Amino acid sequence: MGDVHDPYLLQRAHDEGWADRFFAETVADAILAQDPSEPIIIKGGISPSGVAHVGNFNEIIRGWFVAEVLRERGHTVEQVFTSDDRDPLRSLPRQLADVDGAVVGLGEVDAGALGRNLGAPYSAIPDPFGARASYAAHFTALIEAEVAQLEIPVRMESTTALYESGAFDPYIARVLEDVEQARSVLGRFQDRVDDSYIPFNAVCQACGKITETIEAVDLGARTVTYRCTDLQIGEQTMTGCGDSATVPFSAGKLPWRFEWPAEWDLLGVDFEPFGKDHAEGSWPSGVAIAEEVYGTEAPVPMVYEWFTLDGAPMSSSAGNVISVDHLLEMVEPAVFRYFFALSPQRARDLQLERLDQLVDAFDRFEAAYFEPSGDAAVDAFAAAAYPHVVETVDPDVIRLPYTFAAVLGMTDDVELRREMARNQGYIDRGTDPARIERAMRRVDHARRWAQRMGNAYDYRLQPELPEVQLEPAVLEALEAVAAVVDAGGDGEAIQTALYDAARAVDLEPQRVFAAGYELFFGQPQGPRLGEFLGELDAGFVAARLRRQR
Ligand SMILES: [Zn+2]
Repeated sequence: MGDVHDPYLLQRAHDEGWADRFFAETVADAILAQDPSEPIIIKGGISPSGVAHVGNFNEIIRGWFVAEVLRERGHTVEQVFTSDDRDPLRSLPRQLADVDGAVVGLGEVDAGALGRNLGAPYSAIPDPFGARASYAAHFTALIEAEVAQLEIPVRMESTTALYESGAFDPYIARVLEDVEQARSVLGRFQDRVDDSYIPFNAVCQACGKITETIEAVDLGARTVTYRCTDLQIGEQTMTGCGDSATVPFSAGKLPWRFEWPAEWDLLGVDFEPFGKDHAEGSWPSGVAIAEEVYGTEAPVPMVYEWFTLDGAPMSSSAGNVISVDHLLEMVEPAVFRYFFALSPQRARDLQLERLDQLVDAFDRFEAAYFEPSGDAAVDAFAAAAYPHVVETVDPDVIRLPYTFAAVLGMTDDVELRREMARNQGYIDRGTDPARIERAMRRVDHARRWAQRMGNAYDYRLQPELPEVQLEPAVLEALEAVAAVVDAGGDGEAIQTALYDAARAVDLEPQRVFAAGYELFFGQPQGPRLGEFLGELDAGFVAARLRRQR
């Protein structure tokens, strides 16, 4: 496998021509080549900021797939997730997730109170929703709920709790007993390391903010003396309160570049995926700090590309996010997992308007598992990944195409939904009702998608004939369309018939379409009418066009 320090492990796999291999297999090989002790530890982690969005789940689901492959090979694996909650709040997020995980604007909370806590550790900031012990605890609870929904066993670790327990003390001591060495190692990666730099941040006892100025270190007593001076966070300067005090190591934190490699050793991490921002930054310095400062080893790395959402970076500070909950309302968990089973090496755009394409891709992936698709790479990927993506491998699973499910979602009439599914041949009279029930769950997902997007499927089929007054020419045109339906015309044929029938009676086609929308949806607009009617039961459509039911 070569140098495991190379975060572009998978890039090399790509260059070597096995890009279509399931990434978790490649990573599992690399981990096992290190001859790890059991249980094998897989880590992920984030600062608990804003909304736990779909992009953050790279940190959990990528590792989970690797864990699954290792378990399949007979290994014991434990997945841990650190909430890096002694990190300071750096900026006010534009959006937050409330107690139920719903994304809300900053206006929903006391933004002033949050603003006064800029620079303070997440674990010390009150929960903006008042339900949990802290901002960090609120965020962690949401992630835990989402992870549970996906049935991924993960042990959550709060770095604050680890600091408070003294678990970081040996690493802090190691850094502070030879500050020169720490500076010289970090200085190879960062320009801003000068002779006064001491890699430790105390939390000011007076104002609660993270401080950077350390005036004295007592290694024997494991304490530091800090002074609360101005702190530069991004573009902003947080004014220090001037307080000075002597506090234990356990009341502060290592800077991220030192904290991360300490976590690897402290938690015994064998593998950790991370976003490409770390690949050129804290990863190489972390490897050097692990080896040269702590005398420990770095885990097997894996860089993943970020997802974009509707073409823009996913970011809770910018307000362009979708939570896991929200996405799981629109797609099945298997589709969600499939998205994360795809190569981490490729940047992907999650287009909510075109979720149908993602679901269609999942359906093709699933089909390739059961029957060769003709593309060897797709088949190999499906063979390796599919059993991990679905809850159970069921060769008789019924999948309604997502847009068809969205069409079914236009009616609440369960029997009509089934009739439409029968007409299209997805089910028949003999199909096991439990299977039909499972297949129909996609209708609820697609219906929510249609509602949220307000797209061409967001219409309600009127169960009863609406009261509509139609002039004779329109009635004549509708009769001609009904005849095409009677003759077994498909969606395209009906669409053409709508135009032809209008012209035959010298009407603007819009008039006939508007009449159709009124009859079927009780409003003057709707989806592509011919296509939609083609999905419905022909008897029902013809009768409605004739205003008989
Ligand atoms: Zn202070």
